[in-house]
Amino acid sequence: MNIRASRFARGEGRRIGVSFEFFPPASEEMDKILWESIERLAPLAPKFVSVTYGAGGSTRERTHATVKRILAETPLTPAAHLTCVAATREEIDAIVRNYHDVGVRHIVALRGDPMAGAGERYAPHPGGYRNAADLVAGIKRIHGDFEVSVSAYPEKHPDSPTVDADIDMLKAKVAAGASRAITQFFFENDLYFRYLDRVRARGIDIPVVPGILPVQNFKAATNFAARAGASVPAWLAERFHGLDHDAATRKLIAAAVAAEQVLDLVDRGVNTFHFYTMNRADLVYAICHLLGLRPATQEVA
Ligand code: FAD
Repeated sequence: MNIRASRFARGEGRRIGVSFEFFPPASEEMDKILWESIERLAPLAPKFVSVTYGAGGSTRERTHATVKRILAETPLTPAAHLTCVAATREEIDAIVRNYHDVGVRHIVALRGDPMAGAGERYAPHPGGYRNAADLVAGIKRIHGDFEVSVSAYPEKHPDSPTVDADIDMLKAKVAAGASRAITQFFFENDLYFRYLDRVRARGIDIPVVPGILPVQNFKAATNFAARAGASVPAWLAERFHGLDHDAATRKLIAAAVAAEQVLDLVDRGVNTFHFYTMNRADLVYAICHLLGLRPATQEVA
C-alpha cells in the first residue's frame, strides 16, 4: 500500500488528537469572528481549546471571560493561558483559585514577555513568580488536579543562550509538574524532530505537541516569527511571493503548505497537533479534515 493510502487506513484519522488556540477578542466584531470560529471547530471534538493571556488588565479580563464562556456555553474543555508578568504571587494565585472554582482544570503556564514587549529584558515582578517553572509549581501547589501545559522552543527561545539551556528550563517545568509541552510554531519539520531527539536524550518524556501556524497572512507571520525566534525558510517566502494582492490564491497556498507540513508529521509518527488558529476556522478546519477528523456525528469513510 502506498503511503497516502496507508496514512489513514484502518481509521487512523480517529487517533489524531488536536487542540486549538484562540486569543481573546478586543472588539465586538472580533468577538463575533471568534465565536463563529469556535462553533465551526467545536464539532471536531478537540482535546482542549486554549485562550491566550495578554499583558494589560483589560485583555486579561477578556481571557477570563472567554474561558468562562467556553465552559458555560460549549461542550469544549478550555485551557487558560497564564503568565507571571506584572503580577504578585497573590494576584496570580487568586486567578488560579478562581479558575478552579468555576471548573477550569487545565492551565498553559508561561513566563510571558516584558510589558515593553518581546525583545526587551525580562525582570520578574518583585513579589511574583520568577519564571514559568516557578509558576507551574505554584499552580500545582494550589490544586494538584490542574493539568499544566508549558511552552517548548524547537529553535530555542530568543532569551536563551543555547538549546541546552532552553531544555534545562523545560526540564525544570516538567519537574515542577507540567505534563505537556506545546511548541512554538516552526515550518521545517526536521527542526522539530532534531529538538525532540535532544529533549528525549535529556530524559524528558512528556508529549511535545507541535504547534502549527497556518499562514493566513505571510507578512504578519514573518513579523511574528522574528519576535518568537522562529525561522522562515526561503522556500516559504518564495511560495507567497507575488501574492500580496491576491488573497484567494494566498489562501490556497496557505492550505497547501500547512497540509504538507502536518501530513509529513503524521508520516513520521506524530498524532497530536496544536493549532494556532488566529481565531479563524476555515484553514484549520480544512487541515483537520485532511487529517481524517470529521464532525462528531460523521464517521471517517
Ligand atoms: P520559558 O520556558 O520560561 O523560557 C524560555 C527560555 O528563555 C528558557 O530557555 C529560559 O531559560 C530562557 N529565559 C527565560 N528567562 C530568562 C532570563 N531572564 N535570562 C535568560 N534566559 C531566560 N505569551 C503570552 O504573553 N501569553 C500567552 O498566552 C502565550 N502563550 C504561549 C503559548 C505557547 C504554546 C508558546 C510557545 C508561547 C506562548 N507565549 C505567550 C509566549 C511566551 O510567553 C514568550 O515566549 C515568553 O518570552 C517566554 O515565556 P515561556 O514560558 O515560554 O518561557
